[in-house]
Amino acid sequence: MKKILIVDDSPTIRKLINFILKKKNYIVTEAEDGVDAMEKLINTKIDLVIADLNMPNMDGIELVKSLRNSYYHLDTPIIMLTTTKDEELKKSALEAGVNLFLNKPIQPNLLLYKVESLLAGGE
Ligand SMILES: [Mg+2]
Repeated sequence: MKKILIVDDSPTIRKLINFILKKKNYIVTEAEDGVDAMEKLINTKIDLVIADLNMPNMDGIELVKSLRNSYYHLDTPIIMLTTTKDEELKKSALEAGVNLFLNKPIQPNLLLYKVESLLAGGE
């Protein structure tokens, strides 16, 4: 099964996404910020990362930069969770290497569709 890492400082959002993904039998790991995520990803391959943009300690953009600098995560698909207030930051996130954005609140079916298509190698 495919392994997915959820990185968000909100336990409620992590729980929601975990619940949605587990229904499709994905193996889900959670991290509470970028630092926690990088610790959990040391020398480990993962199939897809879902990361919040706004987080303490290490935010989503810094996390994406770190991932793209790591041999193991050069091509790992990354979905970034954003709000409508984040418009200017999205450009930096894209430049850092985000594959696509999803706006909060999370729409379960859209999330699953995007995850499936990224894992299949599409957009
Ligand atoms: Mg947040």
